[in-house]
Amino acid sequence: MTTPADAADSGDVRRLADWDADRLRSLAGEYGSPLYVQDLDRVRANYERVAAAFPDADVLYAVKANAGGSVLDALRDVGAGAECASAGEVSRALAAGFQPGEIHYTAVNPPARDLDYVLDAAPGATVVVGARDTLDRLEERGFDGRLALRVHPGVGAGHSDEVATGADAKFGVPHDDAPGVLAGAAERGFDVVGVHAHAGSGILDAADLDSHREVLDRIATVARSAPVDLEFVDVGGGLGVPYRPDERPLDLGAVANAVRTALADVDADLVLEPGRYLVADAGVLLAEVNTVKPTGGATLAGVDAGMTDLLRPALYDAHHEVRSLAPDASDRDTERVSVVGPICESTDVLAADRSLPAPARGDLFAVGNAGAYGVEMASNYNSRPRPAVVALDGGGDDRLAREREPLESLTRLER
Ligand SMILES: *Cc1c(COP(=O)(O)O)cnc(C)c1O
Repeated sequence: MTTPADAADSGDVRRLADWDADRLRSLAGEYGSPLYVQDLDRVRANYERVAAAFPDADVLYAVKANAGGSVLDALRDVGAGAECASAGEVSRALAAGFQPGEIHYTAVNPPARDLDYVLDAAPGATVVVGARDTLDRLEERGFDGRLALRVHPGVGAGHSDEVATGADAKFGVPHDDAPGVLAGAAERGFDVVGVHAHAGSGILDAADLDSHREVLDRIATVARSAPVDLEFVDVGGGLGVPYRPDERPLDLGAVANAVRTALADVDADLVLEPGRYLVADAGVLLAEVNTVKPTGGATLAGVDAGMTDLLRPALYDAHHEVRSLAPDASDRDTERVSVVGPICESTDVLAADRSLPAPARGDLFAVGNAGAYGVEMASNYNSRPRPAVVALDGGGDDRLAREREPLESLTRLER
């Protein structure tokens, strides 16, 4: 059977409107809400588009976007490597069957416990270092394995704000210092294999791509001036997805051209680390309306998911589309609606002042593009158990990928 969702699978983006409402309602009926739904077929399709656009690149999945075992399995299966930001992510990648040689550990101010764990559990992993200090700490631990240097490019969108807050400098060594640090690392016996830059903000339109070109030029300059032969140049993640219906999907071909142009005379393999792009549009969050409250302005629809389930709106003022899955939604008048959660915080607003069918208690809402940085940022604040995750696989078969946390889990570790 060809559903709209299947048709969208070959496309550059799956929109919230492409998901089958009957299917989502039946999943919420079976597994309860709030519920994350992650479609692994879509995750694989996203990976295949990236692999096709960058045929010679090694694609590492940035695990922090969604570290669920079913997602990691699916991506390992189609040939991705894993970019991990912590010992916990390395342990989950290993548990999902990634070999240490397929893992990059990006050590950002790494806690001692994390360094100890990664060197012990994943010998052969590539350690990506962003401070001279980290080299000292690796040497103290007798590490002489694969090492890459993270450079902060010092250019790109939002750069001056980032410098002001230290947010940029936190993530690498200045590009001017890179040749010296690389030479020093090689002298100290590390197996220096690559250079790395991750610009951070999502690339979506032509203007984003222009500022990304500056980052690519910087990392290319670093690679050309490297005093050792490099196996790879890692240009990070940051492939963007459209969160709003009027945004066009990313032109992957244009990004691939920009990368090819910038690195044309660099003799090293290309590595990419997309996170969001592989999983965002493969996931939705389902929430049930429990309270409808008229106000002087937008009607408030109180739902059973909040900032503890999906933090991005409260944390970054991020936009996520909301769709009413009420069977008669198209017959209802539309009105201004704000979708709010059950947490005692004024920022607990999933969507403010949207045009939606008049909500009623018991309606199911779907929140779009929730597959990246969604369940991963869930917390137990307000003593809210984290939500369940269901995985769709092999044409839509569903299975529970993560149980809803029971109330007992909230006190389990207390002594
Ligand atoms: C977060 C991160 C990524 C992935 O970023 P996306 O925007 O999700 O693609 C890749 N590399 C590093 C080092 C990161 O910190």
